Amino acid sequence: MGQIPDCDELVTSLLEAPLTTPQREALAGLHAGDEELDAGPMDEERLQGIVGVNSFGDEFSDLASAFALPGQPEPVGHLGLWPSFSMLNHSCAANAVNFVLGRSMAVFAARSIPQGSEVLINYLGRSALRPVAERQEALAAGYSFSCDCDRCRAEMLLGVQGHSGPLDCIQKLLSRCDARTEALCQPAPPPPALLEEVRADAAALHAALSGLGPAEAAWLRASCYDLLSQHTAAAEAMGAGGEAEEALGAQLGAVEAVTPHSDLHLFLAVKRLSLLQTRQGPDSQEAQEQMGRCVAAVRGRYGAGLSDGTALRLLQGVVRGLEQVVV
Ligand SMILES: [Zn+2]
Repeated sequence: MGQIPDCDELVTSLLEAPLTTPQREALAGLHAGDEELDAGPMDEERLQGIVGVNSFGDEFSDLASAFALPGQPEPVGHLGLWPSFSMLNHSCAANAVNFVLGRSMAVFAARSIPQGSEVLINYLGRSALRPVAERQEALAAGYSFSCDCDRCRAEMLLGVQGHSGPLDCIQKLLSRCDARTEALCQPAPPPPALLEEVRADAAALHAALSGLGPAEAAWLRASCYDLLSQHTAAAEAMGAGGEAEEALGAQLGAVEAVTPHSDLHLFLAVKRLSLLQTRQGPDSQEAQEQMGRCVAAVRGRYGAGLSDGTALRLLQGVVRGLEQVVV
């Protein structure tokens, strides 16, 4: 795990690779970020443009499958070019999820997609869990477009209509979050006053979103994900199990609203299962129900037709993956 390889490495390997005619045609169909380059020869400069605009990289490949399924490579950083995949557009509340399996890019529907609707993925990774202004900035810097998805439109409309209260509140709460990060990363338990502060901020978020419709409230709650995550962490550190369980539920709900079936969704679902098993017992109704939700989430990400055995192996992979990441 670790670093995304440099774009130049991919350009060099494309220049040296014995590409088939269909592969050359697929490459020629990709935008290089500049119309002059698109019309020119397939040289290093044009390939650099194509790779810059269309490649997909991650710091690690899919953790659960890498840990659970035989034949999967170690989860290291990677960068690749999948021409048909790179045609997919972005939404900050995507209806599909993608991840790398071996040398292939997998794309699964993450919600029911009506016939004729566009399949939309999330280009932003974890940054989809940030406020609209930051998402727009990241998309403009990384991909040179401004996002007009339902979530962005709803969040921007609040400002235009003069109801920027929730947006301003989120901004304020997130800067308070940043100021607390260090104290919550210490090995020693945080002072009780800190939990009080996080708890009060989580309540302020809930109050700020109370007048909104359910979809808008869920999207904005997701934009303030760092606070929800801090609330869980602070409650856990203080041994407030019931509160941690509730805060984790809110954290999970926010992720489900904007990046369903993402790896983070699975990690949080498994974390909640572990919390319920510890607090209420593995045979408790709550733990059993959550186990069912975890298996459903695994099937949502990796395919509805998975056998029970494979789904459980993948779930064990998620448990191992959770040891490697911060949620
Ligand atoms: Zn958007």
